[in-house]
Parts: sequence; structure tokens; C-alpha cells
Amino acid sequence: MIEIEKVGEVVKIRMANRLFGRPLYYTAAYWLDGLLIDTGCSRTSGELLSVIEGLGLERIVNTHSHEDHIGGNATLQEKFGVEILAHPLALPILADPKRLHLQPYRRLIWGSPAPSQGSPIGEVVTTGRYSFQVIPTPGHSEDHISLYEPRQGWLFTGDAYIGGLDKALQADSDIYAIITSLKRLNALSAKRLFQGSGTVRDDPQEAIEKKVEYLEELGEKVQQLHGQGLRPKEIKDRLLGREPPIAYWTLGHFSGLNLVRSYLKIEEDE
Ligand SMILES: [Zn+2]
Repeated sequence: MIEIEKVGEVVKIRMANRLFGRPLYYTAAYWLDGLLIDTGCSRTSGELLSVIEGLGLERIVNTHSHEDHIGGNATLQEKFGVEILAHPLALPILADPKRLHLQPYRRLIWGSPAPSQGSPIGEVVTTGRYSFQVIPTPGHSEDHISLYEPRQGWLFTGDAYIGGLDKALQADSDIYAIITSLKRLNALSAKRLFQGSGTVRDDPQEAIEKKVEYLEELGEKVQQLHGQGLRPKEIKDRLLGREPPIAYWTLGHFSGLNLVRSYLKIEEDE
């Protein structure tokens, strides 16, 4: 399913796969002035194509190479022959998405993307009317970039900013890099933040600062308990309580334990 909403001059395109009639997780693409930022998941690529046919397309930017942000690349590139710009580290994954090694839950929710051809993004992306700074924002994934339009104050953050106060983390994310990237985004003093989930916020400073504060405080507590000899699982129980439901259906790929491990820079319990 796909939903379209105009947010000022930006067209927000929210997509989700339905399971038993209900939308699962949402992902979003944003279109403005011929530029499409992210392309959703492969399961909604046909619907996205019909929307984009009505709008026109000159270029695509992928914020990162996760399957819910590159899934429409192949269909759109085939139809429009457009350039797809992404971080250099994302390009081998665009060319061969099997490199994502998707867990079954990710294939179920989003589907597996088809290969597309990306080009390395520079420091600036321009359209007829806008000019975006490319901001490196690794952490959620190492190939993550965000786009900032300084005259408009627009900040497109993909998954570099995820709403809420995290109780779980994906196994391959780096919490310290996430915090550094959030601080870099905060320094821009953006006026409007467009999240990869489709949420659009007019309080970017406040939201990002609150999240950085929470993540830094949590990190200090994790280190403190680790210093007292507690194991990661015990630290997780003490600070985050029971695992959220997402930890179960992702078979532990997205979990509170991974969040604790990321602070301690360990992959598996010793
Ligand atoms: Zn992602």
C-alpha cells in the first residue's frame, strides 16, 4: 500500500507491505523538484512507479542501502534511465543486494530488492530549484548519508534519526557513530526533519537533542554496570527490562541486548 501527502513543496510517499490486511512497518520516500530521496521496498515498487510516472523523475538519492530504502531503484531506473546517487560503500550492495544477507523477517516485510546501478554521491546534490548538502551520517549503517537544504531548512535523515527513545538496536548498527551523526545533524539547526519512516517533524533541534541526551545517559549507565562486573544480559535486564516484541520476531537481530553490546563494542557474549 502507498499513501501520498504534500508537505509544503515536498511530496511524501509512505509505503508498507500488508500482512493479513494490515500494514506492517512503514517506510517513506520523498519527491521534490524531480529528485526522489529513497525508493521504499521492493514489494511496493510497482505502486511507487505509478506515483512517480505522474510526477516525473530526474534523479534518485539513496540515504543508505537497506532494503526498505532501495527496493524501488531497479524498477525506476529501468523506466526512467536515471542516475542513482549513494554513498560509495552502498554501491556494491545496490549492484548485488544479496550482500545484505537479509534475515527472513526482512524478506517477509520488505521483499528482496533487484539490482540497480548507483554512482558515488558528491558533497552537493542540486535540482533546478534546490541545493542539498550531503551530510555523512554513519551508525545506523556505515553507508548512511543525510541531505540538508540550508535555504529551506529541510533535513532528510533516512534512518539516521529514528523517533522515540531506543530500547533496541540492530546487530550491525554502531551506537557511538549514531550519536556522533545525530550531533552533526543537530549542528545544522534545521527547521524541518523528514524521517525515513515518513514522520515529518518541525522540532528537529529539540527531538535530536533529547535523543542524544538519552543515548549518552544510557551509555554511561551501561559502562558503569559493566565496570561493576555485570554481563551484557544482566545490564540489559537492569536498564531496559524485558526485550521488546521486535526482538522476538526478528530472532534477536533487533534487540535490547544488541544495544547494550554496541555500547560495550562486543558482538557476542563472552
Ligand atoms: Zn535502515
